Amino acid sequence: MIPYGRQDISDADIDAVVQVLRSDFLTQGPAVPAFEAAVGGYCRAPHAVAMNSATSALHVAYAALGLGAGDEVWTAPITFVATANAALYCGASVRFVDIDPETYVLCLDTLEAQLEQAARDGRLPKIVAPVHLAGQSCDMQRLAGLAEKFGFRVVEDASHSIGAWFGDAPVGDCRFSDICIFSFHPVKIITTAEGGLATTRDAELASKMQLLRSHGVTRDPSLMQNEPHGGWYYEQIALGFNYRMTELQAALGTSQMTRLDQFIDARHERRAVYDAELKGLPLQLPAQAAGQRSALHLYPVLVSPDAPLDRKALFDALRSAGIGVNVHYMPVYRQPYYAKGGWPQDTCPNAEDYYARAVSIPLYATLSQEDQATVIATLRRLLA
Ligand SMILES: *Cc1c(COP(=O)(O)O)cnc(C)c1O
Repeated sequence: MIPYGRQDISDADIDAVVQVLRSDFLTQGPAVPAFEAAVGGYCRAPHAVAMNSATSALHVAYAALGLGAGDEVWTAPITFVATANAALYCGASVRFVDIDPETYVLCLDTLEAQLEQAARDGRLPKIVAPVHLAGQSCDMQRLAGLAEKFGFRVVEDASHSIGAWFGDAPVGDCRFSDICIFSFHPVKIITTAEGGLATTRDAELASKMQLLRSHGVTRDPSLMQNEPHGGWYYEQIALGFNYRMTELQAALGTSQMTRLDQFIDARHERRAVYDAELKGLPLQLPAQAAGQRSALHLYPVLVSPDAPLDRKALFDALRSAGIGVNVHYMPVYRQPYYAKGGWPQDTCPNAEDYYARAVSIPLYATLSQEDQATVIATLRRLLA
């Protein structure tokens, strides 16, 4: 089976992990700060806080911004459930705002209209969490303008987009957001097996996130309530979690970071082949928004209404042909856990249309020419 995505592990990556195994620290040593410096440096963000997953990073980011009961997080329905779940962890509720029919990220016209209505109703969101679906960024500059006008905070779910650029700066520099989250799950752009990271420009938010990822415990005397009793002394000053990344994961991540740009270039080469070779087929190919460089985590194609096969038939035929396609994603409000909240499905027609027609075809840095040719030939045969 040709997978839809997979990691690329080099000998240098393996050596980096083995070196940690032979060292004094498996956790809470020098490798995590080194990884944070590597990602923060790449992203031009002064603060980077590594965690054991992007889900944990989202939770801690929302919590650091003070999200709680009675608050709302607004996000796109076409995302992995974690973007929304993390809001529920904080006791807040979620509202889904429809996607743009061409870029599949949060539609800012729809968002703006709904913000205006919410302002009249006196129930504006505390946080808006745009999802950079497939590696393509939401228009962060415009979103930052809305954040200023309507007084909400912005957490970017950039799980798909480390190595992407928006304008002349890397995603994660947080010039248009409070916090930006990355995931290092093996199907993403770089991997630490499991892992996530939050970047921010705000020292106080960074310090809150560091506290929350490690039990709410501090050894920094300037944060303590009491005089330290001695060298052993620490204080718990918040209710935190154990969301720490291990040294093994961080060493793998730092080694992977050295090849980040290579990975993105390889994805773009393969995207260009798909763009050229699939052009005539009854498929809507993913648009590349102007003024940015996608990380190309995914290559979702939308089956045209006049195609000889519908999405399900195409999906089944591709799987039978050994091509590991997938669907990213069913609108989160359709998940039974959310559906019991009675979310009205007719408020997100673009998300419904996307979900009815989308298939993610294989795209990853090491996808061979031969395997890609098989994917293309199979699609041509099925859709001719
Ligand atoms: C993968 C993913 C997450 C969760 O990442 P983990 O590191 O697996 O917790 C969150 N949001 C989106 C959009 C994702 O794709």
